[in-house]
Amino acid sequence: MRVVLLGTAADGGFPRWNCACPLCAAARDGKLPPRTQECAALTGNGRDWWLLNASPDLRTQLTATPALWPGAGPRDTPLRGVLLTDAEAEHAGGLTMLRGTPGLKVYAAPPVRAVLTPLRAGLDRYASWEWADSLADGGFVLAGGLVVTAHPVGAQAPAYVPARAAAPGAPWVTAYRVEDLATGGVLLYAPSVGAWSSALDDLCAAADCVLLDGTVFDPAETGAAVRGGAGRAATGPHLPVSGPQGSLAALARHPGRRRVYIRMDDTNPLLDPASPARARVAAQRVEVLPDGAEFVV
Ligand SMILES: [Zn+2]
Repeated sequence: MRVVLLGTAADGGFPRWNCACPLCAAARDGKLPPRTQECAALTGNGRDWWLLNASPDLRTQLTATPALWPGAGPRDTPLRGVLLTDAEAEHAGGLTMLRGTPGLKVYAAPPVRAVLTPLRAGLDRYASWEWADSLADGGFVLAGGLVVTAHPVGAQAPAYVPARAAAPGAPWVTAYRVEDLATGGVLLYAPSVGAWSSALDDLCAAADCVLLDGTVFDPAETGAAVRGGAGRAATGPHLPVSGPQGSLAALARHPGRRRVYIRMDDTNPLLDPASPARARVAAQRVEVLPDGAEFVV
């Protein structure tokens, strides 16, 4: 299957629109490449493309990616649908840009589908879409010969969900395992991971390529970069890269897989290729790729 990383930054993009931290300033000065909000696309046959999340930057991302341009008819699109990992605005916001496109299919876990009910009702007035349960038994098959299963990897509801509706323990955040039936290639897509688990180890062990949550390198970095001083531990649903319980230590158990960090926050030192953090990751042969990177799994 072909995979394109349409965007690789966390919510707000890089530089973040409302941030003047040293990394965002360096990006505005042209010293670091800008990044759009996290989102990817894949295809098994080169004709039918599926989005992995739909970021608010989707229009820019589609315009920058010739494989996703419309044709051959005047309103034809190779997009067949969207696989949502969660209900965050950064991942579902791009659905509004796709409104009116006939026949799209959107997969999401039950709590995500439920909380998006008002948005779904509005979008369905432009064109009726099929909204499917990503966690249905046995998984699902996508046009183009891709077999998909979803796997819960986090239980934190988006901040806009009132506490009474947050359903503690519900599968608010999932990862996707995508297998190409023709080649046997397996992609694991996990842009938001709350905590590592033995199930995630099993998924990594059976994947050829892992796209993994790289939101924060160190839990204290956001506070340090934005407020100065010693920093403050970030609160949020994202497992950090560093530390004994971090994702880099977990990825070390899977050296034979292609491993790529995605969804970097604007204060994450991984955004700077000259940083010690980037050197540590590179020493384990874990990659950080630019927007638009394309590869075959
Ligand atoms: Zn910043």
